[in-house]
Amino acid sequence: MSQPVVTRFAPSPTGYLHIGGARTALFNWVYARKLGGKMLLRIEDTDRERSTEAAVSAILDGMSWLGLDWDGEPISQFERADRHAEIAMQLLAQGKAYKCYCSPEELTEMREAARAAGKPPRYDGRWRDRDESEAPEGVKPVIRIKAPQSGEIVVEDQVQGRVVFKAQNLDDFIILRSDGTPTYMHAVVVDDHDMGVTHIIRGDDHLTNAARQIVIYQALGWDVPVMAHIPLIHGPDGAKLSKRHGAMGVEAYRQMGYLPEALRNYLARLGWAHGDDEIFSTAQMVEWFSLEALNKGASRFDFVKLGNLNGHY
Ligand code: GLU
Repeated sequence: MSQPVVTRFAPSPTGYLHIGGARTALFNWVYARKLGGKMLLRIEDTDRERSTEAAVSAILDGMSWLGLDWDGEPISQFERADRHAEIAMQLLAQGKAYKCYCSPEELTEMREAARAAGKPPRYDGRWRDRDESEAPEGVKPVIRIKAPQSGEIVVEDQVQGRVVFKAQNLDDFIILRSDGTPTYMHAVVVDDHDMGVTHIIRGDDHLTNAARQIVIYQALGWDVPVMAHIPLIHGPDGAKLSKRHGAMGVEAYRQMGYLPEALRNYLARLGWAHGDDEIFSTAQMVEWFSLEALNKGASRFDFVKLGNLNGHY
């Protein structure tokens, strides 16, 4: 039997549940339910300055109101910091990552010199082969992964198709900061692996991150999950959806008297092509949904249509 499907929704708790986030959660939920798998919830709370308990509650409440249940307890990314550090140390011990002692001033200089030479402002790998005995005193290093220096990184995406990144455009990026905390890039890979995630469905603003994350998967010899990067939602004028277009939070719609079924139906159709049906039951949505039918192009949020749809319930 093939491996059971495990999806996840991984919001950063820095504000209310945004309609874009709700749509991501919905697609992860419907896909897991369709295949009798699990949808896990991971709260990406490593940014201690911006993460709040109020936002965690708002996200969980918004999901519950929309009828999007998750399996097991929500997982806190912050609480897994020791595990992230452990894996970074493992990469270091295996020579797949290294300590970099560059000061912020040195990095700025490096970027400026690259820019002046007409090159992209990348880290030049200067600590890749340097000996630790050369380390300046009192400086705590960061840990950088050795990214491939030539060839291609290929993201085989269920929505975007085969997306090729040139390795020369990726630098040896940081996986562990000098204070021992993981970068977002590293934490996501370790968590998705440990949680047994088989399918990553998220916004296509994460597509370039996917290339870097694949570098980490490959260094660790871990299988890369199936990826599906969904195009962002635009406003009726074609610009990226923002507050000036109208209400952005699930909670705002709830307060305006929208029904969860209406919003859920509407969100399901944003980026997912399925005939002309506007109104469908949860069972139909689960039956009809497929990753292949997700649209490549951005979808437009139409407030009038949503209002009309709400009127049908
Ligand atoms: N925490 C990220 C966000 O809210 C999502 C990360 C991911 O899905 O990999 O945009």
